[in-house]
Amino acid sequence: MRQDNLIDGAWVRADSGRTLEVLDPATDLPVGSVPAMGVAETRRAVDAASGAFPAWAARPVEARAATLVDLSARMAAKRAGLAALMTAEQGKPLAEAQAEVDYARSFFDVAAAAIHTLEDEHPEVPGKSVRVHRRPVGVAVAITPWNFPLAMLAKKVAPALAVGCTQIVKPAEQTPLSAIAFAEIAIEAGVPAGVLNLLTGDPAPIAETLLEDPRVRKLSFTGSTEVGRLLMRGGATNLLRLSLELGGHAPLLVFEDADLDSAVRIAMAAKYRNGGQTCICPNRFLVHASIHDAFVAALAEASAALVSGVGTRPEVDLGPMIDDAAIEKVEAHVTDAIRCGATLVTGGGRRRGAGATNRFHEPTVLTGCTAEMRCWREETFGPVCPVRAFRDDDEAIALANDSEYGLASYAITSDPGRIERLGLELRTGVVGINDPGPAVAAVPFGGVRHSGFGREGGRWGLEEYLETVTVSRVDA
Ligand code: NAD
Repeated sequence: MRQDNLIDGAWVRADSGRTLEVLDPATDLPVGSVPAMGVAETRRAVDAASGAFPAWAARPVEARAATLVDLSARMAAKRAGLAALMTAEQGKPLAEAQAEVDYARSFFDVAAAAIHTLEDEHPEVPGKSVRVHRRPVGVAVAITPWNFPLAMLAKKVAPALAVGCTQIVKPAEQTPLSAIAFAEIAIEAGVPAGVLNLLTGDPAPIAETLLEDPRVRKLSFTGSTEVGRLLMRGGATNLLRLSLELGGHAPLLVFEDADLDSAVRIAMAAKYRNGGQTCICPNRFLVHASIHDAFVAALAEASAALVSGVGTRPEVDLGPMIDDAAIEKVEAHVTDAIRCGATLVTGGGRRRGAGATNRFHEPTVLTGCTAEMRCWREETFGPVCPVRAFRDDDEAIALANDSEYGLASYAITSDPGRIERLGLELRTGVVGINDPGPAVAAVPFGGVRHSGFGREGGRWGLEEYLETVTVSRVDA
């Protein structure tokens, strides 16, 4: 397993020789160690990306697209190894890790196809001949979180490389090895030296060096709203182009016409992916009063049946929380909700996974939740389902929109008029109707308000890495 960083096509260690250890969150056993890069190495990565940009941007679109398709095929060939590594450093069950490899690959296939749809435009202007064309912004930076180590990287690398940008990626400290394995595949697929560079280490010095460098023209960040704000401030000096994919606090609305079995199946699939450590997983369950009790009973029964443990065991549904701070936050949210009057229906505490640490939280259902509770206002990022009843559509939509976040929302209903209204009125960037998995590579994905801005997926994802140029000609 490779554990170096990639700068200008060379596999390198930190100048200081310092490394960061990567631990399996399910067992606390070491998985590997990666370089802790500093300011000088970061500058060298910018030199490399900047130097490689003109040739990569000038490469014919067909050639860049072919490289991306090749990269995707190589990921498919290495699916088992990539998934095993991801489970080891992130903890998610192996089946979810395998699905993530497929999901990550799809961004390369989609970007390779979408690049052909971007054509010059010629708006009609009397007395002038106008051509509007697009060109890549230049050196792009990707900073990614630990919860989807490959998919979050793919969402950024695929569009950037497709349009002709060069890139520096900085994965999360908890999950850098999946990113290194990916970079190795990119090199094998023929991505030229300097086009993709990878730095691991403490985030602040690396990010500050990147933000200060005027050659960096784009930053795409996925992570917490707090760090997103910090990067936005830091990007102001060079007026950096930004895409910020930040936290979410998705509501899931179950209307009175919902089929109970389907509603529970959809809720379970959306909620417990990656143990609830997913930016778009439902964090607030709003259920029509007429079916509230039946839905809660069925959700609690299905939740209690989930198996926690080391992700390589086939029977496991839920992996560990990523670290101690994460499980302590989940516990604090549950304790706070009960203190504020919520009823604990199932779960509520830690579990020890077989052969593992006790960094596993029981799937938990709470009822009678209110806006005073932390779990109703903040991202819990764990396997907790806070439930509240509503009486009519107006109340459901008002409660759903009562959050500073606006990434995803879900509704379970078959009423066409209501579906139309929800699409117009729910203030989130993604609305899933009877759909627990609305994030696919061909469609735009991203948030509004404190969930950030910018879109990933399809041609919308490519546009984030392009600048628009107007050439206005008047014949002399
Ligand atoms: P985080 O913000 O702590 O870390 C994300 C990345 O930012 C990591 O690479 C980290 O090293 C880096 N980082 C941390 N401090 C930094 C600093 N001072 N300067 C520069 N970079 C810094 O978030 P996390 O805990 O890794 O991820 C969970 C968060 O990500 C949740 O809020 C979740 O909702 C969000 N998320 C959002 C999406 C989306 O598409 N909107 C997707 C996945 C996760």
